[in-house]
Amino acid sequence: MDIEDLARRVKAGERRALARAITLIESNRADHRAQALALAEALSDTGNEALRLGLSGTPGVGKSTFIESFGNMLTEQGLRVAVLAVDPSSARSGGSILGDKTRMETLSRNPNAFIRPSPSQSELGGVARRTREVVALCEAAGFDVVLIETVGVGQSETMVAQMSDIFLLLLAPAGGDELQGVKRGIMEMADMILVNKADGALKPVATRTCADYAGALHLLRKRPEDPEGFPKAMTVSAVEGEGLKTAWEEMQTLAAWRRETGHWQARRARQSRHWFEEEVRLGLLARLSGSPEMRARMEALGTRVAEGDLAPAAAAHEMLALLDAAP
Ligand code: GDP
Repeated sequence: MDIEDLARRVKAGERRALARAITLIESNRADHRAQALALAEALSDTGNEALRLGLSGTPGVGKSTFIESFGNMLTEQGLRVAVLAVDPSSARSGGSILGDKTRMETLSRNPNAFIRPSPSQSELGGVARRTREVVALCEAAGFDVVLIETVGVGQSETMVAQMSDIFLLLLAPAGGDELQGVKRGIMEMADMILVNKADGALKPVATRTCADYAGALHLLRKRPEDPEGFPKAMTVSAVEGEGLKTAWEEMQTLAAWRRETGHWQARRARQSRHWFEEEVRLGLLARLSGSPEMRARMEALGTRVAEGDLAPAAAAHEMLALLDAAP
């Protein structure tokens, strides 16, 4: 494969080249991995910088409806939008919560939008790191906004927050006691909480829910990377398109402030370091389970530990020494 040519076509914004590049990134074959790294290197000089938006919310809260309305609004403003997903279910079964092709019907036909379902890797860490590489690819391809969607389960939110400039939490209108259902850690990651479905009969309860979350956000420790008034809770209606323009303006305000104060660059620098360490960690794990001998040794040591024949720490030490010895 001609990587230089592929890079040139990705930079020129060719969709088929982009799709091909993503397939290359998502492949686990060693030769593909080497090509993917060469591609990333060839694309590293564009200077393009997209706004990376993370979006999380439980199934049914209205993520796809929101992305459809919000994405179309952005393209109407002349922006190019990429939509990616980190779907933890794809790591387990191949079945997915976010992968349904019929979602976002008008956006998927929009020439200024590009939608890609979650990579199906064998574990969530693999899904996330590939998605992070695809974010960088979309950025090089000149997209203005890269939206990364995930469901509010497990570690996936943390991973998406680690690849976003701004992390959005989409919530449904709910009774006050439901506020407890959102974990404090997730609240602390959110830059904006959007209470969706603020329309029709749900509007009053959405407004009340929003006030509850605004209060809860106010109680959190102030972060240096936030200007006055952030993190912020707002109501939106994805179906009616209500509040989306205001939400977008708030995101831009936040982004501009962070750029001016250097927090934007600092956050990206922290994230780069995080993904470097994550790659090393996953690479080591892959080496541990990569060869049949290693797996057999792991299994045998595990059995001895389970039988009380060997202490866990001693067994781990023995296993890790094998890594040192391996070529
Ligand atoms: P997802 O699972 O988070 O992607 O949620 P969907 O976008 O599929 O929406 C789940 C349900 O909520 C669908 O029946 C939508 O029509 C409905 N829904 C989404 N957004 C809104 C909204 O703004 N207002 C109302 N009333 N319903 C909405």
